[in-house]
Amino acid sequence: MQTHKEEQVASSELDEISSSLENVYEKAAQLIYNSKYLLITCGAGFSKDSGLAVYKDIASNPIYQEKNLTYHDLARPVSTFETEQELLDYYGFWVNCAQSYLNTPSHSGYQILKDWKQLLYSKKEIQKEFNEKQIEILSASQWWKENCKIASNMFIYSSNVDNHFSRYFEKEEIYNIHGHALNWQCGNHCNEDCVWNFTKQLQNIIINQETLQIDNEKLKELKCEKCQHASMPNVLMFGDLGQYIRNTEEEDRYIAWECSVETFSKESSTKFPFIILELGCGLTVPSVRRENECVLLDCDESYLIRVNLGQEELDTIHNVDLIPMKNDRILNIKNGCQDALHRIHQHLLKIIENNK
Ligand SMILES: [Zn+2]
Ligand SMILES: [Zn+2]
Repeated sequence: MQTHKEEQVASSELDEISSSLENVYEKAAQLIYNSKYLLITCGAGFSKDSGLAVYKDIASNPIYQEKNLTYHDLARPVSTFETEQELLDYYGFWVNCAQSYLNTPSHSGYQILKDWKQLLYSKKEIQKEFNEKQIEILSASQWWKENCKIASNMFIYSSNVDNHFSRYFEKEEIYNIHGHALNWQCGNHCNEDCVWNFTKQLQNIIINQETLQIDNEKLKELKCEKCQHASMPNVLMFGDLGQYIRNTEEEDRYIAWECSVETFSKESSTKFPFIILELGCGLTVPSVRRENECVLLDCDESYLIRVNLGQEELDTIHNVDLIPMKNDRILNIKNGCQDALHRIHQHLLKIIENNK
């Protein structure tokens, strides 16, 4: 009898745990359904779900180990490499990365986010003043031209360099904060605009599978057209001393969007019109996490949904001012990004159906 009772208790506790687990997805779906603006912010954990080899995996090849080259040695500005052999290794690594980004299909989480745009966010009524405010801010930028497109109520803020979001979202909706590996640039930063799309050429470069180097004949094609300095991926590297050319257009767009969202969230009738969805952002370089927490503190009408596989990543709050309000403003979901998005999506579809 005793045992039976204990078992019952145990199984009802289990039910409670599993239903509360499912509840976080339901709660996330409800928050998203009620919101008006969505900022999607991504780190390495999001790209990883596509099965994309992160730099670390690519660099863990035994050929690099034999050469005593780690990912920290390879993810550096081109000007730190002196000999021809070093350059051939460097380019072999980055061409390999770029080709694997191009050849890998994106995981289904991307399509879900795009579906939310069509099913939900494109149907929300956005005041024309919201767009006018963005344009007013952006018109101060040098690159701005009249009739340039602007983002609506969704925006992507990502530290990944695979550029996969461009397959699903418009250029004006994406800020790749560390650049991406399909754009290349002058390694000498000879000019603010010296960045070019290199996709086509990258596809045709052959990597020697025994050395993981490119052919030295190719070196002359990998130069800046303006100053003949060696080129490099337009990616923020370790030990950057100003070589990296920032994408000021994307940055300006994000700043204008976020500022306009803050302004118009204050006027909204719902409690949390502004949702920040953080997907797979780690603790090593927590720039995306910090930005999210900063927005959360700036804007009382915002709410953070933090998705991560790691408990430490979920438990860590960088900004101490946020700690007292964490239960009211942050929802933690312990899962991989793709699966979490699927679960939220199922609930969201139900809510949309019930509210038809
Ligand atoms: Zn140059
Ligand atoms: Zn702000």
